Amino acid sequence: MNLQNFVPPAFDDARLQAFARDKYGIAGSWSRLEGERDQNFRVVEPGGANWTLKVCNPHEPADSILCQALALEHIARTDPALPVPRLRRDISGDIAPVLLDDQGHAHLTLALSYLSGNVLGNVSIAPERLRQLGSLVARLGRALRGFVHAAPAARPLIWDNRRAADLLDHVHLLPEENRALARAVLGDFRDNTLPRLEFLRSQIIHGDVHPWNVLADQSGAISGIIDFGDLVHAVLVQDLANLIADFLESGQDPEPILLSLIGGYREVTPLEEDELGVLLDLVEVRLVMTPIITALRASNSIPAEGYLQSFGSRSFKVVEALRAKRSEFETLVRRAAAFPPKKSTTAEKLPEMLTRRHAVMGEKLYLFYDPPLHMVRGEGVWLHDSTGRRYLDCYNNVPHVGHCHPYVAEAIARQARTLNTNTRYVTDEAIAYAERLVATAHPSLSAVLYVNSGSEANDVAWRLAKAWTGKSGGLAMDFAYHGITDAIDCFSPSNAPDAPLAPHIRVIPPPDDYRGPYRRGEPDLAQRYAALADPPIRDLDEHGYGVTAVMIDSAFMTNGMLDAPKGYLQAVCGKVRAAGGLFIADEVQSGFGRMGTAMWGHQHHGVVPDFITIGKPAGNGHPIGVVLTRPEILEHFTKSTAFFSTFGGNNVSCAAGLAVLDVIRDENLIENARSTGEYLRQGLLNLKGRHGLIGDVRGVGLAVGMELVRDHSTREPATAEIKRLLSLVRDEGVLVGGEGRLSNIIKIRPPVVLNRGQADMAIAAIDRAFARL
Ligand code: PMP
Repeated sequence: MNLQNFVPPAFDDARLQAFARDKYGIAGSWSRLEGERDQNFRVVEPGGANWTLKVCNPHEPADSILCQALALEHIARTDPALPVPRLRRDISGDIAPVLLDDQGHAHLTLALSYLSGNVLGNVSIAPERLRQLGSLVARLGRALRGFVHAAPAARPLIWDNRRAADLLDHVHLLPEENRALARAVLGDFRDNTLPRLEFLRSQIIHGDVHPWNVLADQSGAISGIIDFGDLVHAVLVQDLANLIADFLESGQDPEPILLSLIGGYREVTPLEEDELGVLLDLVEVRLVMTPIITALRASNSIPAEGYLQSFGSRSFKVVEALRAKRSEFETLVRRAAAFPPKKSTTAEKLPEMLTRRHAVMGEKLYLFYDPPLHMVRGEGVWLHDSTGRRYLDCYNNVPHVGHCHPYVAEAIARQARTLNTNTRYVTDEAIAYAERLVATAHPSLSAVLYVNSGSEANDVAWRLAKAWTGKSGGLAMDFAYHGITDAIDCFSPSNAPDAPLAPHIRVIPPPDDYRGPYRRGEPDLAQRYAALADPPIRDLDEHGYGVTAVMIDSAFMTNGMLDAPKGYLQAVCGKVRAAGGLFIADEVQSGFGRMGTAMWGHQHHGVVPDFITIGKPAGNGHPIGVVLTRPEILEHFTKSTAFFSTFGGNNVSCAAGLAVLDVIRDENLIENARSTGEYLRQGLLNLKGRHGLIGDVRGVGLAVGMELVRDHSTREPATAEIKRLLSLVRDEGVLVGGEGRLSNIIKIRPPVVLNRGQADMAIAAIDRAFARL
């Protein structure tokens, strides 16, 4: 082990003064400075310029000295304002001119600007100064980021914590009471921390920023970081960890120290989560290395000075405190680095969570599955529960392009860090998102209105439609769902199927060619089903409401994923328009390519609506609501009414929306919805022969319905069976839902990134679940 106990060179003053004058052109008043390894002088030139002349120890490897000099020149270029010594080359441009002693030994010399100030030493410094120090150390790391030199990696340094385990051989030099803790820390570091360091940001760092290498001016402000003699190639956060180790005092409140040092650091360089994961380990190992190295030096008769002297026995008390309250410290470190507390990795028991949930959210709020699932993570088509089990999510359409899609998540995070405000200002994202949406729609639908949810979009569309038509009657499909606002609840008979409709609402029987009055294979299905819209339209007129609009989800999701006969929607719209009404295409379910044939469900059906309402999938989980309409309809409305949605169209939502559109395009997801949807439907259809309960398999794109019946001729709904089946499919690791007025339809509506292999998994799981029914 290299203890580096060098005796400093001892040139006489006259010799050095001549050398300084001849080589550097430096002359002035001359005073000696302390030096552990080198012989150091301070020279003040007549003009006031202040220099440190350093005669390096001849045992010091030359490339380490040159590296130090080059590093300082690098910093002078990358962060000239950083308070570190500035290198002065000699008159001929040499970095470190050689001075020969009487025996002919070569000594490299360095001329560095002299930084004034007092070393921090063991004076206590205020939190705001620690914050400044944290920032300076981060700047130092940043300034050295592009600096490359072989010396720091090659040099065997006792302080290099990659060699910390070597110190286990010297633990016996410590007082008896500290040895067990020292062994534990060094062992844990070697076994658990070192392997993780290999994945972290690493570079040449200062390596030795401690209170005796930091200067403060009269006011206490940090005025310099000195001593670049221990440059090391290490993880970037090591300098920060060393600082923390040096400033944590046993018995002192660690909170302001951690918050200041780490907070100041991350204001310059945001920390990575993995770096935070090792920070306290690095602190502990530094706290243990220092007293061992001190003891080792003492056993070799090297006196402890300054920094080492100050360490004494305090470090083990600090390590004990760190270990005793490790998770509190971890939370503090994360908070200081602007990371939320880490979620508990030990899953809370479900009954306890349900008790907590009931206390604050009530008992009636519906939960899927019994017992319910405690979800902790999502990724692509997978949801992970707190027991570590993963489920193939064939139910959720909100994470349209896959749970936690990294492109979308990053877009949200980036925008959240940049700007998030509202549409009262001109913002890039709101305009760009509106333009992108408009480009997907019929040219007539060129006006965009931002809100926050599907319900709101429908609510606003309904208000616009009433203003435009001057009428007040609304049409919806029987058993439709369009949202939760007071107005839209009226369009959502599925919310309360047995309750009477609102006086101004009429419903149209859905085009259900499996169970409805006209069956698949019969002629003129589209016209005959569309004709069922005539009586309600007439009735609205006869009761004086008139037809304001019909609101339709073109995936007919609540009606059981109907594949409506070709021409049906066109015919219904024709009738509504003939009665003076408008068509609100609710694309909350059918939009963004789910139908596999087009971006929007109404395009699949070949109709142009007066409104497109957008919700759930738009932000892949981030709340967004949008209405697209004709500009004249919007203008007519805003002439008489002020309209503003605080969050609607905010930058983050729009960034999320834009990212979702990018992913749909870049991952070719509309085509995937078509081909995987067809594949999935065919696979499920193949199960029909094996399981008698399967009455029908249908749908469009990745909206798939499977209707269960006890009897294929009476079509008696298998409602009780489906309840059990959903749980069995869940047990098989696949999530699907139930749907329909008779609650006998399996709803399969996965994120549109589902691939064929995953479709096979879903089919096999459903097959096994049927077998166990
Ligand atoms: N319309 C349809 C067709 C929906 O499926 C939903 C939500 N399931 C909504 C509107 C309402 O959207 P939100 O929950 O965002 O208000």
